[in-house]
Amino acid sequence: MGMDLRRTLAWFRRDLRVGDNRMLEAATRAERAWPVFVVDPDLIAEHDAAVGRRAWFDANMRALDTTLRESGSALTVLHGRPEDVLPTFAAAVGADRVVAGADEDPAAIARDARVATRVDLHLVHDQRIASPEIVRSADDRPYTVFSPFRRALERHLAEAADDPFATADPDLARLARASDMSSADTLPADAAESTRAPFDLPPSGEAAAADRLRAFLRSGLAAYAGDRDRPDVDGTSRISPYLRVGALGIRACWRAATNAAERARERGDAALLRGADAWRGELAWREFFAHVMAANPRVARESFRTEFDAMSWEGGRDADAMLEAWEQGRTGYPFVDAGMRQLVATGWMHNRARLVTASFLVKHLGIDWRTGERVFAKHLLDADVQQNNGNWQWVAGVGTDAAPYFRIFNPSLQAKRFDPDGAYIRAWVPELAAVPDGRVHEPWKAEGPPSGYPSPIVDHAAARERALARYGAVRRERV
Ligand SMILES: Cc1cc2nc3c(=O)[nH]c(=O)nc-3n(C[C@H](O)[C@H](O)[C@H](O)COP(=O)(O)OP(=O)(O)OC[C@H]3O[C@@H](n4cnc5c(N)ncnc54)[C@H](O)[C@@H]3O)c2cc1C
Repeated sequence: MGMDLRRTLAWFRRDLRVGDNRMLEAATRAERAWPVFVVDPDLIAEHDAAVGRRAWFDANMRALDTTLRESGSALTVLHGRPEDVLPTFAAAVGADRVVAGADEDPAAIARDARVATRVDLHLVHDQRIASPEIVRSADDRPYTVFSPFRRALERHLAEAADDPFATADPDLARLARASDMSSADTLPADAAESTRAPFDLPPSGEAAAADRLRAFLRSGLAAYAGDRDRPDVDGTSRISPYLRVGALGIRACWRAATNAAERARERGDAALLRGADAWRGELAWREFFAHVMAANPRVARESFRTEFDAMSWEGGRDADAMLEAWEQGRTGYPFVDAGMRQLVATGWMHNRARLVTASFLVKHLGIDWRTGERVFAKHLLDADVQQNNGNWQWVAGVGTDAAPYFRIFNPSLQAKRFDPDGAYIRAWVPELAAVPDGRVHEPWKAEGPPSGYPSPIVDHAAARERALARYGAVRRERV
């Protein structure tokens, strides 16, 4: 790969790693490249991110800086609108091009369009396993159903003429440092003010992310197919926060799952094969929702099935009070409350609990799925517009490949099935610690209900009827 004589800024955004990074590989083909990160006040405001989420980004940005320093470079942090600060910094170091990883978050697309009017911006795709132009249906349209999408994706990856996973190592010797240029708008990462999380964050940085992935492959993958639905078991990889900031790349995960499946086949290890296949299926869901939003950016605001936007959701003071009880984990449904408290206390929630809490907000409380999506986005370390939106639409029954609208989770049955001993509930709802086993999923049935824990804010059977009527009204209007 020949050297490129232009001077370049390597603009890190959600790819905070040095290894296996196509953006950095492209940037370091230049004669000289300056690694930069932009703290953009508009983007922070737009995302309304809780402090834990901002601290997670901050911690991973600092870990990246530490890694860059090991090769004699350093991350320069620019404060301001990227369209203002990037051209100024580029001019100061004599760079005439900015290389960045493509980001399909609609807010990021708008930002990049503004930046591109001011600098020569070169975007490199590295967020997804395959580009949307490649994975298309037989009649050349983007997929809207998961299973055929997954089959097409796997076929594409198996048949691709060029190895879709191949990356060259970035030429780190070409990375420059700009720490001698410090001013209020230009700071070395170690001098920038740090954001502290109100709780313990996972270990940050690409080495920690790689450790996490390795540990899961070694001790979690073989049992994943059965354990993945159990929030009382530490049975999933917990890599989502790393994927969000790019401390870990998606291609590395897919490749690891594929290699594990091959090993399992060779050894005739049926459990490992099932686990690897199930896990790769989840990575394919991530890919699917990214493709859906890339092909239909409107879904960031409206239901994929627009007819459901005629739905009359609950509003006003009562709905606000219900929403607050939900966010605080005080609905009186222990499994829902455990999930929401885990979210606010740690910035992560188990997938089964995400399903049940989201369904409860939309179906039991009759609150617009977009409101729930915003609450999740505020707290989740892995908050990602494509994944969060795709999953909320799925749960609400308004999306591409959605669950049928009349499937309404019963929060008590879900709890009994997926947290049979109530260990997850007791871990997050201490008021229920002393409730006997048989009653922990439905404490209102206990003799002498626990003090300090609310009774259910809605009755399940009545809420179910209201939800069916609400959805039914929209369906009837269409016929
Ligand atoms: C209402 C709702 C909102 C969600 N919001 C987000 C979000 O903002 N960001 C996010 O990354 N995930 C989101 N998810 C998906 C899923 O819950 C998390 O990805 C998963 O719990 C992360 O934990 P893990 O890394 O241990 O997952 P594992 O079970 O180990 O799965 C590995 C990876 O596969 C992908 N994955 C797993 N499940 C899904 C799924 N249902 N959809 C898409 N990708 C998936 C993730 O990248 C995950 O890290 C949401 C799910 C629901 C139901």
